[in-house]
Amino acid sequence: MEDSELDNFIICKKCHTLHRKIKLHHGTKALCQRCNTLLYRHHQNFIDRLLALSLVELIALIVSFSFTIIRINLNGVYRGLDFSSMFYTIFHHHYYIVGIVLLFFIFIFPLVILLSLILALILMKLKSSKYLVKRLLILIAKISHWSMIDIFLLSILVAMVKLFNYAQLEFSVAFTALILVILLDIFTLKRITFSDIWDEYEQIYKR
Ligand SMILES: [Zn+2]
Repeated sequence: MEDSELDNFIICKKCHTLHRKIKLHHGTKALCQRCNTLLYRHHQNFIDRLLALSLVELIALIVSFSFTIIRINLNGVYRGLDFSSMFYTIFHHHYYIVGIVLLFFIFIFPLVILLSLILALILMKLKSSKYLVKRLLILIAKISHWSMIDIFLLSILVAMVKLFNYAQLEFSVAFTALILVILLDIFTLKRITFSDIWDEYEQIYKR
């Protein structure tokens, strides 16, 4: 069987039944015949919607990187937590490896993924640079597991719970932005899978 022929099939994530893909009507979805699991859905204005969500996520990410995330008031002494002071403290105490790993997991990878996705979507809208779009999509697929900004938020929450008895905590706009980033991430990943993006890619560049 050729690769292009294989593209016409889809495997159910849950029960591994093989299905032949059919073209769906607007707003409908395909379910597994055996276990009713969602296989794929028809996305209207797929590229535009994903692009809009990604741009909002990029703005939220920049906001969360730029401002104080939480302010801690410990008996009248204020300390703010933000990305730059956090990395300054880590490197100042000579935890270089921890600092570099953190820098990649919570700063560089999330930013590279989002910027690559936005660039790929814009090029797909313009129907240009087929090869570059392919490289970008492969890059995103490779590093998407290494974005750990959600784990970073989780660790802030755990620290906050521990500090709750001793200090007053104030959430700032960057904290809200960080939550928005995670929610958009979950929403886009849950609603839109990589096979959807590849399907669009095949459709756009088939000639
Ligand atoms: Zn199934």
